[in-house]
Amino acid sequence: MAELVWMNGEIVPLADARVGIEDRGFQFADGVYEVIRLYNHKPFALDLHLQRLQKSAAGIQLAVPIAIPALAAEIGKFLARASVPDGMIYLQLTRGCAPRSHAFSQTKATLLFYARTLPPLTDLTTSEGVKLITVPDERWKRCWIKSIALLPNVLAKNQALAGGADEAVFIENEIVTECSASNIFAVIGQRLVTHPVGPKVLPGITRAILLDLAAKIGLTAEERPLREAEMLHADELFITSTTREISWVARWNDRNIDQSRCGPVTLKLNAVLRERVQRETA
Ligand code: PMP
Repeated sequence: MAELVWMNGEIVPLADARVGIEDRGFQFADGVYEVIRLYNHKPFALDLHLQRLQKSAAGIQLAVPIAIPALAAEIGKFLARASVPDGMIYLQLTRGCAPRSHAFSQTKATLLFYARTLPPLTDLTTSEGVKLITVPDERWKRCWIKSIALLPNVLAKNQALAGGADEAVFIENEIVTECSASNIFAVIGQRLVTHPVGPKVLPGITRAILLDLAAKIGLTAEERPLREAEMLHADELFITSTTREISWVARWNDRNIDQSRCGPVTLKLNAVLRERVQRETA
């Protein structure tokens, strides 16, 4: 079956969908986006994603052109037609088309989303850990906005891959902020520590859910900046995102964190996350 896209209220074949060359998303990266996980034909944590979408849009003085409950209903209708049981929804909202000018004018926003299959999640007990390289955090100071302007992230990720690593971790003034497309956590004793969200850290949905679940396995959640040196002495390190859920960290530049296996606390957190996913998408 041909892939479909929901675009400004209509469902059309993805291959036929078009946006104008003066769409501000294309010319200025003037837009925001979301990536929502699908399990068993159902979106996971949809409310949290749509709340974040609204906040990101407000952060660039843009309104989501359809009420959030109506958007959730449209996503439901779309999923009934798209044959993507396990994967993701990519949703993008831009300020729409106008003659090119930095200044905003009256535009009709462009809102679209489509679904894609993702490869099955890797089993943390048997998977290899991810390798990270550090890069200077050269991004802007509104990283809490899930902006489509991702060039620093794109360059960092490609630098990681070119260096034989999987993900790039941003460092600013010796502080570890987040990764190019994921948040990062340290397990230190009975504490689960990650950088606060804000100018330099996206409020990751997986991040928020894990901070919420930490107490279930006896961990104290702590949001504070962490120095690179402290990260390297942590008991366990892992990164999170909607598409990867949790990946344990095996290597940091040329240092081994743990060569052989995922740490026990990370495994427990993964188990409570899986339980929540299964309960909510059964
Ligand atoms: N930080 C950045 C920069 C990201 O791009 C992502 C993935 N979208 C995340 C963190 C993780 O967020 P989430 O758990 O909502 O996917």
